[in-house]
Amino acid sequence: MSDKILVIAETKEGELRNVSFEAIAAARKIKPDGEIVGVVCADDDLENLAQELIYYGADRAVTVKHEKLKSYTSEGFGQAVLAVIDQESPDGIVMGHTSVGKDLSPKLASKLDTGLISDAVDIDVDGDQPVFTRPIYSGKAFEKKVITSGLPFVTIRPNNIAALERDDSLTGDISSVDVDIKDLRTIVKDVVRKTTEGVDLSEAKVVVAGGRGVKSADGFKPLYELADVLGGAVGASRGACDADYCDYSLQIGQTGKVVTPDLYIAVGISGAIQHLAGMSNSKVIVAINKDAEANIFNIADYGIVGDLFEVVPMLIEEFKKV
Ligand code: FAD
Repeated sequence: MSDKILVIAETKEGELRNVSFEAIAAARKIKPDGEIVGVVCADDDLENLAQELIYYGADRAVTVKHEKLKSYTSEGFGQAVLAVIDQESPDGIVMGHTSVGKDLSPKLASKLDTGLISDAVDIDVDGDQPVFTRPIYSGKAFEKKVITSGLPFVTIRPNNIAALERDDSLTGDISSVDVDIKDLRTIVKDVVRKTTEGVDLSEAKVVVAGGRGVKSADGFKPLYELADVLGGAVGASRGACDADYCDYSLQIGQTGKVVTPDLYIAVGISGAIQHLAGMSNSKVIVAINKDAEANIFNIADYGIVGDLFEVVPMLIEEFKKV
């Protein structure tokens, strides 16, 4: 029988996060001829979500529906996913390196007594052996890892491994696992949303990030407009968050979110090493700064030396014409 890889999908507001589809593509790289089983746990209509995993390349899908899976808790989701692992006895597991993945994967790996390759940004195959590339030293270097014993258990960084093309002619079995989730020591009573509606920052293809140079919360408004025109999300440096121009949920960097968009526009950000740790692997970096010596220009693909309050409105006007 071929090897079986479980892909633990993730939902947000009732929809699958894109990283779930990227995880299916990653699983296919690890075991090109293996069976890929999508797993989705929630308190929603899971049939459609399971079907969506199949359209993106899973051979079949397993759902776990339970009222205690309405919001993420390590214990609740841990019990649900372990029940599926118990039933399926997989030869590998892949999930997103998101806040859920970062919390759940070490717990599962320790229960399964196996290693974990976290935050993989690429997967090559050397003979039969998958080779995982992951950043180290806050993204300043990359290491390549292979697995010598135990399951390949991998979390992948969003936006790095392209999802397979959606094909709604694909079919596969959808089954469910009943789990008696009990003894939760934590429950989520309320979710207070700090971010604005729209594109998820950690999965955005375009990020417009503002720094202390933006000078006020009002100064961020044109950045939201630019992000809107480009279909992207707004992020920030810690400098901007500390100055209360925006919420900490927007912070990018060593102690904030790590993003890898196709286009990162740094506006009034000096380029401190701790900020670069969260965005330096973006595919194209554009920096707007009035100081031509700012460190951000050392990693930018395109630099605009100028006053952001003049440059950003010009960009908005030009992009609106496209
Ligand atoms: P500044 O360094 O003050 O830069 C502002 C920039 O705006 C300047 O380059 C200036 O030339 C430019 N500017 C000003 N006015 C204009 C204008 N009108 N037009 C164009 N440009 C203009 N930082 C993070 O970002 N993320 C992290 O996760 C993070 N983690 C940290 C962890 C630790 C342990 C520590 C010690 C620090 C951390 N920092 C982090 C803070 C980091 O060191 C910097 O202080 C911070 O990134 C600076 O933010 P900034 O670039 O917005 O501000």
